Amino acid sequence: MPGQPIIDAHVHTYRSREIGRQAMMGSGLTDYGGTVDELLALMDRGGIQKAVMVNMTPVVDMFEAAVAKLPADLSPAQRAEAEDDIRRQMIGRLQRRNEWTCHVAREHPRLIPFIGLDPSMSAEELVAEIDLRWGEGTRGPTGARLGGIKLHPPNQRFYANDRRLWPAYERAQELSLPIIFHSGAFALGPGPTDHAHPKHFPDVLSAFPHLTIVMAHLAFGDFDACADLARDYPNVFFDCCYVINGTEKRPSLSDEEAAAALRRVGTDRVMFGSDYPWFDPVLDSARVQRLPLTEAEKRAVLHENAQRVLAL
Ligand SMILES: [Zn+2]
Repeated sequence: MPGQPIIDAHVHTYRSREIGRQAMMGSGLTDYGGTVDELLALMDRGGIQKAVMVNMTPVVDMFEAAVAKLPADLSPAQRAEAEDDIRRQMIGRLQRRNEWTCHVAREHPRLIPFIGLDPSMSAEELVAEIDLRWGEGTRGPTGARLGGIKLHPPNQRFYANDRRLWPAYERAQELSLPIIFHSGAFALGPGPTDHAHPKHFPDVLSAFPHLTIVMAHLAFGDFDACADLARDYPNVFFDCCYVINGTEKRPSLSDEEAAAALRRVGTDRVMFGSDYPWFDPVLDSARVQRLPLTEAEKRAVLHENAQRVLAL
């Protein structure tokens, strides 16, 4: 067991291995299935004290799949009504997934719950969902409280500066809840998209100066853009999953390049994350420990930044 505490700031969990494997769509680099028991065993093995579940629901993909199955001969009015029904069902699924994530966290206090929201929800629905999960957390017997919100611009087809989300950002800021966004390119989509390009973030960072924003995956390796944002906005942070991992046998960045990238953005601004079950948190955290960084820098990335930024 490694000598220093570790927090994994980016994992996904699923109700069953089957659902997890389905969500990964063959894109993971492991044989893991994303179940809670599997994750807890890996955390024990890797000396990882806490993990942040940034669970989300692919609302748009599910909506499109359901709409494609509607009968072709519906009138425009019938179609509009059917689509509205489907939209409600998908938001219901998102809410049940949030409920499950928060439930898991109450059973296992080492797992921190982040919830999903969707820009198709009304302002009232967005705020009500945050307040509901927040209230549940503060009532929980173990005191497991809501940790934050996860949004995925490419998968959910929106931009971070989409005004429909302003009410959610406002509420998150009031409750000191961080929001983690997928950032940079997206490997799992149907094609290239700029939904999570760093250029869409300054609007939000300046409109909500007390809202903590985490850009996952260091914008998929756009370190210049991350460094610029880090310099201009004290409320932006990053996680290094995907970009700096120990799962790939031949990583795209050498250890020296990875250490230089972390220093360029700021070792006080980047958190360790694995993106389990796509990657292996044991191998990924071991890689960060091997990087040519000072012990203080490693402590910051592996533990202290997450503890401070996510208030864990
Ligand atoms: Zn992820």
